[in-house]
Order: sequence, then structure tokens, then C-alpha cells
Amino acid sequence: MAAAEAEHRDIVIVGGGICGLATALALHRKGISSLVLERSDALRATGTAIGIQTNGWRALDQLRVGSKLRQTSLPLKGLGEARCLRRSVLLEALAGDLPSGTIRFGSRVLAIETDPQTSYPILWLHDGSVIKAKVVIGCDGVNSEVANFLDLRPPRMSPTCNVRGFTIYPDGHGYPHDFVTINHNRVFLGRIPLDDKSVYWFIARPWTHQDSTISKNSDLIKRSTVESMLGFPAEILEMIENSKPDSLSLTRTSYRAPWDVLFGSFRKGTATVAGDAMHVMGPFLGQGGSAALEDAIVLARCLVPSMTSLGHGELSRERIGGALDSYISERRMRLVRLSAKTYTIGSLLESTSLVAKLICILVIILFFRDRLGHTQYDCGRL
Ligand SMILES: Cc1cc2nc3c(=O)[nH]c(=O)nc-3n(C[C@H](O)[C@H](O)[C@H](O)COP(=O)(O)OP(=O)(O)OC[C@H]3O[C@@H](n4cnc5c(N)ncnc54)[C@H](O)[C@@H]3O)c2cc1C
Repeated sequence: MAAAEAEHRDIVIVGGGICGLATALALHRKGISSLVLERSDALRATGTAIGIQTNGWRALDQLRVGSKLRQTSLPLKGLGEARCLRRSVLLEALAGDLPSGTIRFGSRVLAIETDPQTSYPILWLHDGSVIKAKVVIGCDGVNSEVANFLDLRPPRMSPTCNVRGFTIYPDGHGYPHDFVTINHNRVFLGRIPLDDKSVYWFIARPWTHQDSTISKNSDLIKRSTVESMLGFPAEILEMIENSKPDSLSLTRTSYRAPWDVLFGSFRKGTATVAGDAMHVMGPFLGQGGSAALEDAIVLARCLVPSMTSLGHGELSRERIGGALDSYISERRMRLVRLSAKTYTIGSLLESTSLVAKLICILVIILFFRDRLGHTQYDCGRL
């Protein structure tokens, strides 16, 4: 492809989800501008709500949006600082503090290459435009183009799918402000109240072939989910029946195995990945979003010193490469532990083999005895 009329940028972030916006805001707080390319035409809040735990709130405080967000959410009991946020509220808080023009909506990255002349990355967009960037950060989620460019193996498919929804109770739901989980017959349910009248819930259940055809039809998602939940309390089934149709989503669970995170090569030249693009994990710990926020803080902290007085030469490229290596090495073992814990809990819930279950229990006792230990992580100052 010929790169005529290319636009030149220092930092391009691919994807304007939680991770991309948090990374842009972290850089902005340190006085560094970036461009976020988001393929959707507006902020995309698929999943309706999200539980953020102590480690995620620490990162939000570093981004200076924690206090504002606490006013929109209720603390949940017994989990350290855990609260459930509407995804749209979280995304708007992150985007709202960015300088105008930082996010370019309707911009889909089709491919990335290394510029043979400069060795910096070139991005090819769906409308034929081309951007030459000094740094590319892939926050483009589970099917990441940037991860492809880094030659990372695609995330693995789990035998389960995730259904998420949101139910409003006009007269109040009466549930305590607890994160409730129920595991029955290989179906795992999480329920978190957002406020006194609304509840966010998610379910991991076995994936069936028909799920690939019903994911766009909210009635069918409801029906197949309720059918898979025989033996669950009636109030849970009613919660699913009464969920808002436009809040429902169904996706196959995908994950990067802990060993893929341990050995993954997360940098190529001056491009790297963060968030789900780097370490997508199952929903069993509810940590994907909080871990993405941690990535943003560590990445900005490592990258910013290398971005001052940038030239075009090899020295600049080496400085940026070194900064990205520091980010990856600081994140790697944290993410291996998180994905290993999620993987073990997921395997315990999903497996039908008694031996596999016993092995999982042993691993949990040996390595993950502290149920909330992972939420105590502090990603440090920005
Ligand atoms: C059922 C379920 C429940 C969950 N519950 C929780 C929870 O309670 N707490 C929690 O912390 N986490 C939870 N998670 C995980 C959490 O949702 C994710 O980890 C988080 O959204 C990842 O953010 P991200 O920005 O990395 O990716 P995404 O949110 O996927 O954002 C990626 C963005 O990139 C854009 N994009 C993709 N490709 C391109 C391209 N080529 N060009 C331009 N833009 C592109 C997309 O449009 C999107 O906006 C849950 C996940 C599931 C499946």
C-alpha cells in the first residue's frame, strides 16, 4: 500500500472503550496529547454497567474522576471499595475531561504496518486515510488489529457465553447492596444493584450453536437464558424476564490463557496493547475493566518521560521502545496472576470432571486463598 498524504501523529490509541479513554486521559493529565480512533459513531456502552473494585477506584482516583463517579454509585458491602457504574457514565467521565478533538469517532483501523523508511507504525483506516504515528497503543478489545500486528495469537474460545442485562424495578428491588453470585448446574450468575431501583446482572452459561444466531434478538436471548437456568430462584428468572431488551448482550467468552500472557510478546517497535486487547479474561472475577484502568496508569507513567523532546531518529524509537518494555514488564506478572485466578475459578465452575475440580480447588488453596487479594493491588501514582 502506498502511504500518500499521511497524517502525522505522536500517539495514536486504537479503540475508545474504557482502556483507550483512560489511557488518553492519563496522558492528558501528564500534559501529553493523543488521538483516539474509535470505529463506532459515539461512545459505545455495550454491557450497560460494570462493577469496579478497590484497585479500579485507585486508578480512577489517579485519573481524577473517582470523586465524581462515586457520587453516581452506591458502595457494595464486604468487597473493599466496590461499586457498580453505568458504563455510559464511566465512559462519559473519562471522555469528558479530554480536550476536544482527542476522540475521532467513525474511524476504523483496518491494518497496521511498519513504515520501511522510518520503522515507525503506519495505520490504514477504513476510509482510505493513513496515519503515521510514533506510538500506537492498541486498546481495541478482544478482536484487536494491533494485537494482530504484534503477532499475538488470537484469544481462545471458552465453552461458555456471557449474557449481560439490566433490570429496572419501578417500585424498588429491595435487594441489599451486595454483589451476589450463584453457581448452579454450570450456570454462573452475578447480580449487582446499581441503585434502589435497578440491577445489573451477568451470566456465564454453556455456549450452544444456536447462540451464534440469536445474539441480535433480545427475546431469544432472554428465552434461551431462562431455559438454561432451571433450578434458579424464581426472583432471578423474573429479573431476566423483566430486563430491558436494549440492555441485553450475548457474547462467546474468550480469554488469553495465563501462559499466553506470561509469554506474549506485547511490543513490536513502538506499538503495544492494553486492556482486553492484551489480557481478555472471563467474567468470574469482574476484573477486566479495573485491570484496563491499571494498564492506563502504568502505561502513561512509563511512556511520558520518553515523549518529551521527541525527534524522528533511532534514539527516539529506542527510548519509546524502552518505555513500552518497562510498562510490559511492570504489568506482566500482575496480569498473569489475575488471568490465572480467573482461569482457575472459571475451570472450577465449568468443568464436569471431578479430578479437574479437585485440581482447581488445590490451586486456589495454594495460590489464591485470599478471595479479595487481587483487589488490593495498587497501580501507583500517575
Ligand atoms: C459478561 C461480562 C461481564 C463483565 N463484567 C465486568 C465487571 O463487572 N467489571 C469489570 O471490571 N469488567 C467486567 N467485564 C470486562 C470488561 O467489560 C472489559 O474488560 C473492558 O470493557 C475492556 O475494556 P477495553 O477498553 O480494553 O475494551 P472494549 O471495551 O472492548 O473497547 C474496545 C473499543 O475499541 C473499539 N475498536 C475495536 N476495534 C477497532 C478498530 N479496528 N478501530 C477502531 N476502534 C476499534 C471498539 O469499538 C471499542 O469501543 C465483563 C465482561 C463480560 C464479558
